[in-house]
Amino acid sequence: VVNNQQQAQVALVLSAPAKVTNHLVALVEQTSRGLDASETLAQIEGIFTHLIAGLKSKYPALDDSKLKARMELEFAGVRRQMQGITLLGQCPDNIQAQILSRGEALSIACMHELLSVRGHEVVLIDPVKLLLAEGGFLESHVNIDVSRARFQAEPLKTEAVYLMAGFTGGNEKGELVLLGRNGSDYSAACLAACVSAECCEIWTDVDGFMTADPRVIKSAYTINELSYIEAMELCNFGAKVIYPPTIYPVCV
Ligand code: ASP
Ligand code: MG
Repeated sequence: VVNNQQQAQVALVLSAPAKVTNHLVALVEQTSRGLDASETLAQIEGIFTHLIAGLKSKYPALDDSKLKARMELEFAGVRRQMQGITLLGQCPDNIQAQILSRGEALSIACMHELLSVRGHEVVLIDPVKLLLAEGGFLESHVNIDVSRARFQAEPLKTEAVYLMAGFTGGNEKGELVLLGRNGSDYSAACLAACVSAECCEIWTDVDGFMTADPRVIKSAYTINELSYIEAMELCNFGAKVIYPPTIYPVCV
């Protein structure tokens, strides 16, 4: 990001740290069934505590107390929502969307601090305000035309790094909705389309491109080397042939 930012304007879309969303899904599920999910919540807190401690050890000037306070605030909110779910014996979709998106919210807070301590100006993009999402609370899709018009109305500051939480958008009432599991790649593609980006790079923590979906084709293997152009060509034959993508170029 820092290198690219010297050449061109960069916007960064973040997902939750690994395992966090799965833990949040488990938390909602356990609480809805009347089970005590405090252990699951502790695991999520542990992931962020570890992450913040790592940032602080690498960047002593980083304001970790601010991040910890933000984390406490988010988890206090989740605890209150868990009490409500316990009383109801079920979790309404709007509450579920809010809980499941906490991983992204905290990712953004951590990256914001990290970029700030490294001297970068950061501008947050609120996907709930700018990405108009249509569908239910848990699996909406983005209305690109309306969202693009909203982005065009926002003046862009070229010297800043833009940061946006993935996985979320806002419905016509301005309520937070989810774009479906693994939706952050989609968020990035939507953002790229809305700002007519020259390129959209997806970085995923997997071993690489595979020749096929290994759940379907047992003989699928990871491709050793793949140029950007080849990857694009493969994508043009249909995303299904490549699974799961490390760099998934999206033409905008
Ligand atoms: N964190 C969300 C999920 O696990 C979105 C994503 O990873 O793209 O589904
Ligand atoms: Mg993810």
